[in-house]
Amino acid sequence: MISSKMLELGKKSSVIREIFEYGLKRKAEIGAENVYDFSLGNPSVPAPAKVTEVMKKLIDETPAEVLHGYTSAPGDVKVRTAIAENIKAKFGVDASLANIYMTCGAAASLTITLNAIVEEGDEVIAFAPFFPEYRVFVEQAGAKLVVVSNKTEDLQLDFDAIEKAITPNTKAVIINSPNNPSGVIVPEEDIKKLCQLLKSKQSEYGKEIFLISDEPYRELVFTGEKVAYIPCYYDNAIVCYSYSKALSLPGERIGYIFVAPTVKDSGDVFAAICGSGRALGYVCAPSLMQYTIAQCLNDTADVSIYEKNRNLLYDALTEIGYTVIKPDGAFYMFVKSLEEDANAFYERAKKFDLLIVPSDSFGVPGFVRISYCVDTSLIERSLPAFKSLYEDYQK
Ligand code: PLP
Repeated sequence: MISSKMLELGKKSSVIREIFEYGLKRKAEIGAENVYDFSLGNPSVPAPAKVTEVMKKLIDETPAEVLHGYTSAPGDVKVRTAIAENIKAKFGVDASLANIYMTCGAAASLTITLNAIVEEGDEVIAFAPFFPEYRVFVEQAGAKLVVVSNKTEDLQLDFDAIEKAITPNTKAVIINSPNNPSGVIVPEEDIKKLCQLLKSKQSEYGKEIFLISDEPYRELVFTGEKVAYIPCYYDNAIVCYSYSKALSLPGERIGYIFVAPTVKDSGDVFAAICGSGRALGYVCAPSLMQYTIAQCLNDTADVSIYEKNRNLLYDALTEIGYTVIKPDGAFYMFVKSLEEDANAFYERAKKFDLLIVPSDSFGVPGFVRISYCVDTSLIERSLPAFKSLYEDYQK
């Protein structure tokens, strides 16, 4: 026999992947330019030229046994030191190489962290809408995912609901700002309120509650809005960072975990992170990518293109009549479905070759997600289809 749990996970592909696969089929039928595929979160902006220059130089100048060799399991010492110094300089919090564990992107950062901290019976809270893989990651680590819905009008945190959801079994809370799928940024005031609430719950229950910040979109911000850095507000903070979106390197699989030195018994938590990475078989993050990002810590892909796409799409959709939650960051937009059932709305949009993702898989009903990390010309071409879809509902 094989694992029925894994068989089920492997057979049941995500809704987003299904839509993407449908898009490939449809493109072959009617031509790629006639399909408006907004399904995936694959960065459309190229990595900064500096990234490739640094990679080429590293390939030319680094001895092969270093370039292609293993680094130590938590990552190369110089790379981790450089990241820690960068965190100190950017956010004014204490950090050293002893707090940094290099990973294969945010997905690995999250799975390693969760497996390091949870035990049977623990609960992990996520705010809906949320990245659907959280359920897989949390349940696979052996904990229960507790979903707390954000307020429907602005998709911001609902503190009454959060307070009710925290129990003596709560081991961690995951926050993701800027958010996938909504693009919403949690204001600093709300972060302070959340941290205050968690601190009081820690005292009430006499135990630690970790606040995990999943932040692959930290640099993708279009307003002056400050993206609060959790370790500035909360001691038991763990940051799961990734270069997938900031540097447009999702296929290179590189990121890190920062266990804030203020975490209770942070040395043990870090050791558990090392143990978890080992048990999950990560060995070490890709060496060439570790060396590369260490030289690009203050660089980002050209985020202004996403901002241009956001403005174009937001203005056009609201003009047509759609209700849109204005995103301040990331490259996703949440649009209210024109009928109660977002799946039915998605099916009807498909008739106009608009591929948008129903919100149910993100833990909330009644919306669709549009990933606007696409060529601007695709958005321009898609607008008549969005208009026709809207008009179809007015008949
Ligand atoms: N967390 C969120 C919110 C995401 O949107 C993604 C990817 O889209 C990930 C984690 C995983 O990112 P990575 O490619 O760095 O593993």
